[in-house]
Amino acid sequence: MNKKKLTAFQKILLQEKDVLEKQYRDLEEGNLHNSQSDFSGEMPFEEEYAASGTTTFERERDLSLSENVKDILKRVNEALDRIDSGTFGVCEMCSQPIPEERLKALPYANLCITCKQKEEKAFR
Ligand SMILES: [Zn+2]
Repeated sequence: MNKKKLTAFQKILLQEKDVLEKQYRDLEEGNLHNSQSDFSGEMPFEEEYAASGTTTFERERDLSLSENVKDILKRVNEALDRIDSGTFGVCEMCSQPIPEERLKALPYANLCITCKQKEEKAFR
C-alpha cells in the first residue's frame, strides 16, 4: 500500500479514535453520575432503592456499551500501531493483503475476509 493511502487510513483511524474516546468518556461520566445519585440523599432510602432497581438494566446496557466502545478503541489503536510498524492492511493470520474495499468499510480490520469467516466458524 502506498504512503498516500496509508496516510488517508491513518487520518480516518485518528478521527474514529477521537469519536470513540469521546463516547467512552460520556459513557463513563454517565455511569459515574448514576452512582453518585445514590448518595444524593434527596430521596428516602427505600424510594431510592426501588428507583435504582428499575435502572439495573440500563446500567448493564451502558456497561456493555462502554465495553464495546473500549474494544473498538483497542482495535483502532492496534491498527494505528500497524500503520507505524508497516504491517497495516496485512492479514494477521495468512499474511495476505486485506482488500482495500474491506479496509474502507472497516479500517481497523486485522483479518482478511476468508480468515475472518474461518475465525467465526471456529467460535460457533
Ligand atoms: Zn487471511
